[in-house]
Amino acid sequence: MDSGSEGGSLWHKITRFFHGKGTDNVEQAIIEASQEGELHASEGSMMLSILQLDDLQVQDIMTPRTDITAIPAECSVAKAVEAITESGHSRIPIYLDDRDNIVGVIYAKDLLREALTASNHEKPVSQVMRQAFFVPETKNVLELLNEFKTRKTHMAVILDEYGGTSGLVTIEDVLEEIVGEIEDEHDAPKEADIVIVDGDKARLSGRAYLEDINEALKIHLESEEVDTIGGLLSHIAGRLPLPGEEFVLDGVKFLIEEADSKQVHKVLAQSLEPAVGAESQENNSAVA
Ligand code: ADP
Repeated sequence: MDSGSEGGSLWHKITRFFHGKGTDNVEQAIIEASQEGELHASEGSMMLSILQLDDLQVQDIMTPRTDITAIPAECSVAKAVEAITESGHSRIPIYLDDRDNIVGVIYAKDLLREALTASNHEKPVSQVMRQAFFVPETKNVLELLNEFKTRKTHMAVILDEYGGTSGLVTIEDVLEEIVGEIEDEHDAPKEADIVIVDGDKARLSGRAYLEDINEALKIHLESEEVDTIGGLLSHIAGRLPLPGEEFVLDGVKFLIEEADSKQVHKVLAQSLEPAVGAESQENNSAVA
């Protein structure tokens, strides 16, 4: 670590700070150090996030299966270049038959080399792909980080307990747990998952987390089975709800605005009581 850099000074502070204080409750010590000004708030919050990595499983941070850009093994190099260009992702899983059977990963830099020679353009990507690294949904994030390091790979495909594809995780997803959301160069600006429309209405994406909705609307939605509002409304309906369907939960009407056969996309929440929470949009816009 460069001793002149901020990292160097942080390390210096940490060793000085823990010297003589004991580390029985490291988290408490970090909080106190931040409060006392011995650590910058951002340093303290990063340190706390690092400690919490050990409590996270990969399923908590993965990009879910429905959002994965993947292509079939019979695709040509030229088609793969198109998929990479369109998605903006530099690594794309390759599957045989369906997405539950991922057989490799194609890298943009390998494609670049192939694309230099016109006669390679029709080559199937299966001849250019690399091995995929598979891990179970329950894998500990800290362990995954170590495996990324030892295997010199940056992406893992996450399998559910039946061997189907559950999602994918890259080193960036782990880093985001420590430093917060990172916008990629190619990221289109993301729509917030919770947008307060009027004082008593909010537009929600189907993937908005219940805990964030609770905080924004000052309500108490709970579920042992699901995490998101789309998941909760589907769970209550026992199927994917249709656009136009309404659900009343905890004094709030949830109207399905957009849904297809796989997902609830947009929900309008409207308080049935006069003054239900009108938190600022800013507080709720960082949910990925
Ligand atoms: P890239 O820059 O190639 O997108 P990163 O490692 O920076 O790769 O990942 C950025 C985000 O994109 C992460 O949340 C990661 O899970 C997601 N991601 C990476 N590759 C894919 C892919 N093929 N399909 C869907 N999401 C992906």
